[in-house]
Amino acid sequence: MVLLRFAPSPTGPLHLGGLRMALYNHLYARRLGGKWILRIEDTDATRFVPGSVEGIRKALDWAGLDYDYGPERDGSHGPYFQSERRDLYRQYASKLIDNGNAYRCFCSVDQLTEVKARLARSGSNSTYDKKCLYLSDEEVARKVKAGEKFVVRVNDDLTPTRATTHDLIFGYVRDAHLSLATDPVLLKSDQFPTYHLASVVDDHEMGITHVLRGEEWLPSLPLHLDLYTHLNLSPPQFAHVPILLNADKTKMSKRNGDVQVVDYIHRGWEPQAILNWLALSSWGAKHLDPPLPSDTEPGSKSSRPPSPIHLEDAPDSTQLMTLEEMISDFDITAITHRSSVLDVNKLEFINKHHLMNTWSKPDGLDELAQRVHGFVKQTFPSRLVACPYTTIDGIKTAITLLEGRLTNIHDIPQHAPYLFIEPDLTTDEAKHMISGIPTDQRLHVLNALETLIKSNGCILKSLRSERQKLGINQKTFMTVLRYALSGMKDGPAVVDTVRALGNERVLARLAAARG
Ligand code: GLU
Repeated sequence: MVLLRFAPSPTGPLHLGGLRMALYNHLYARRLGGKWILRIEDTDATRFVPGSVEGIRKALDWAGLDYDYGPERDGSHGPYFQSERRDLYRQYASKLIDNGNAYRCFCSVDQLTEVKARLARSGSNSTYDKKCLYLSDEEVARKVKAGEKFVVRVNDDLTPTRATTHDLIFGYVRDAHLSLATDPVLLKSDQFPTYHLASVVDDHEMGITHVLRGEEWLPSLPLHLDLYTHLNLSPPQFAHVPILLNADKTKMSKRNGDVQVVDYIHRGWEPQAILNWLALSSWGAKHLDPPLPSDTEPGSKSSRPPSPIHLEDAPDSTQLMTLEEMISDFDITAITHRSSVLDVNKLEFINKHHLMNTWSKPDGLDELAQRVHGFVKQTFPSRLVACPYTTIDGIKTAITLLEGRLTNIHDIPQHAPYLFIEPDLTTDEAKHMISGIPTDQRLHVLNALETLIKSNGCILKSLRSERQKLGINQKTFMTVLRYALSGMKDGPAVVDTVRALGNERVLARLAAARG
């Protein structure tokens, strides 16, 4: 069975880059008819942030990315927290030591710093002189018995597969490993594993068939492949997804705007829109990539132009996809190998499309109303005076009234506050609306609407004939009414606003506008 894994470290809230990785794992697993695991890589206690795992799970849940196995969703591949798998890593480390592929290193941090500096002075690229590789068995046994702390390092001399490796997205990659330390540590002195050992052991033990992870791990691939060879295991297939950049081409970080998924949840974006947006960041842009070296002729990653993908155009309709459509269209070879830019301007366009999709579902309006309710309460925490729009039904009316004008439901309270609280007629905008209109004309208009409401009701036809009777031009007439009802120059049609507000409320607003 095809089995993938999304393996975040619980070091804080889930970032967009993490969600994108989960999405690609989900798409690839489902496309291949397989499943995926949520694995929590929590072996670095110093970076652990309490609450992260709950945050990650909530974000995945919000996005509708259902993992098949993982915390609270067992399935015999667990435990799913690496901190609960430490015995396993120690066993594998022992096996590597026994085979002569790894060794215990007793050097202190100070010693290592000194060695590294000495090697650098002599012009060497090595970061360690492998001193402990040459300790005799007796010496090692004596040190262990004496309780000396040690790390386990892989003996990096044995690197038959190092120079060129193959990746499903990057193709053949040469010398990716050169940035790795000499004889990388597999087991730290607290006997917790490093990423390299834990990842290889878990991917094997859990039966992972395809590893889809961030490009930052590409330099580790040769080492991981070596570990599989040393342990006599067959490796999974690897695909490294290029990194995400901010619009200014810098690495995504909090400083450059919202990067946490929770920010996007709070700002009311549709989950399917965020997924669609993330998918488009690197997918479907393959035609813009420079050609990869052919499979028979290994190339060099460094020979490729580094410029990131940045699609300037708004997505066309074929790029607007639901999760199901993404699954059926997903093609790993259509993922670009260039880093990609997330363009916030595209998100609004994509969101509007998915908002309409949600709306058109049987319970869509109810779902939206529940979410808007939360935003309304947040926006006007203490000013909601017995307003019908604080009810779900009232909010549904408000949403329907604003249909077509909405890009994001989060905007509703700001966009049309008069639906939830009394309009503020003291703002510059409100004052400016009626600044050139004589008071008697204003009163005539307000009275006309009042008369209509009290008699036959306000419909477009009767409004028009009242206006004609008064001989006031259309623009002035409507501006006065809009001023009284909303205090804002833009908004839905006056007749619709009257209907949505209800007669009682409209009469009160007309009275208030008379001053
Ligand atoms: N724990 C790693 C991270 O959060 C995941 C690497 C992997 O997917 O193998 O970046």
